[in-house]
Amino acid sequence: MIVMKFGGSSVADADRMREAAALVKAALPRSPLVVLSATARTTDQLFEAAGRAEAGNLPGALALHGELMARHGALARDLMPGGTPPELAEALAILGGELDLLLRGVALLKELSPRSMDAIASIGERLSTRILAAFLGAAWVDARDVMRTDGTFGCARPLTAEVEALAVSHLAPRLRPGSTVVTQGYIGATAQGLTTTLGRGGSDFSAALFGAALGAEDIQIWTDVEGVLTSDPRVVPGAQPITELGFAEAAELAAFGAKVLHADALAPVSRAGFRLVVANTHRPQGGRTEIRSEVPPRRPGEITSVAYKEGVSCLRVPPAQDADLLFQASTRLLEAGASLYGLLATPDGGLLVARGETADSEKVLRDLGASGLSVQRGWAAVALVGEGLREAPGRALSLLDALADEPIAAILAGDTGVSLVFLVPDNRLSHLIPKLHEHCIEKPLRGDA
Ligand code: ADP
Ligand code: ASP
Ligand code: MG
Repeated sequence: MIVMKFGGSSVADADRMREAAALVKAALPRSPLVVLSATARTTDQLFEAAGRAEAGNLPGALALHGELMARHGALARDLMPGGTPPELAEALAILGGELDLLLRGVALLKELSPRSMDAIASIGERLSTRILAAFLGAAWVDARDVMRTDGTFGCARPLTAEVEALAVSHLAPRLRPGSTVVTQGYIGATAQGLTTTLGRGGSDFSAALFGAALGAEDIQIWTDVEGVLTSDPRVVPGAQPITELGFAEAAELAAFGAKVLHADALAPVSRAGFRLVVANTHRPQGGRTEIRSEVPPRRPGEITSVAYKEGVSCLRVPPAQDADLLFQASTRLLEAGASLYGLLATPDGGLLVARGETADSEKVLRDLGASGLSVQRGWAAVALVGEGLREAPGRALSLLDALADEPIAAILAGDTGVSLVFLVPDNRLSHLIPKLHEHCIEKPLRGDA
């Protein structure tokens, strides 16, 4: 079997959904499991509606609810002009009612816990999958019956052994050549049945976990770009598709902000040794990236891609203070779901580099700042990634010549050997990323470096 994951932009409107459905139909002999995101903008809108409700603006929240439900109703009608099947109409109405109740509850209490937010966010994937399953005439499975997670709402951790067992009992029997099953990415549930989410962009992670659990031949990530590119195309318009990537390169890229893959999606796939393919729903015959366990051939020192992650904070502890403070801060941040990029204890004091990924960890950062620890915001982590660095790590340092005049805060040694990571101010990114791309990727390709 294979897993086909479609991101939000791949199911943004009826035309896109028809393209996605055509790809699924063509793959029916391979018993595809379809893992779907919410339609484009929907998750953002659900967060916005929840925020309005929390602020006590119930009319504003309900206006978004109305817009969102109308958009999904129109999508269903456009796809099925003969009439929305009654079971689909009923499923959509039930989801609309659930969202309405949740928003009213939040507005009444003026309180939005991560647990309530997850319940609200889950509506997006539940809507999109109902529509695609009806359009395809496919079985629909509630991912909350399979994706068992812990109770870290907002960035829940899957309980891998249980997910495997549930995938085998709930999904495998329904997967056979000629038919397909549609389920949701991003959402899961605790053993008590409370709805959770895996964090923004988490559908890739769901696809990887389901694929690993079911022994998929291929995990296909269908998105709006032709595979993984040499950099973020929004910042480097000339970024080029990378045909082959090793797992370590892909994992490093994802960890350092290449939004095309969720940071956690590589681990399950690399454990199981499967192939992961990233391709463009809109141009299925165009470029694509194959990510495999075999390391592709690279020139010594070759950089494959340049990634970055904004919103990084530097926590500094003066030398006179207890280094323990730094370790306590890092523990609290990790528990609250932050990403930590480095922890340095030196005779000059300590430096902790963190990115608050969740509302909880943002709160920890604020609390630490208020308690007297120096918390400097506004940094970004930039990563030069490439298997070629294993052979010639020193070469990457010479590439940093391009940055001689830049205020680099710290160089973080990666232990994977396939990246060089350093910190720069957020506001230098739009200038620096194209410059690094030119210097580290385009020039060597042209042969003038
Ligand atoms: P989906 O909704 O399909 O999950 P995402 O928006 O999450 O899609 O990810 C695709 C986007 O990731 C692209 O449109 C692109 O803007 C961004 N991106 C950032 N870095 C890269 C990269 N190195 N290669 C490809 N896309 C990237
Ligand atoms: N719909 C979710 C999000 O927008 C998950 C995903 O798209 O992967 O973050
Ligand atoms: Mg995504």
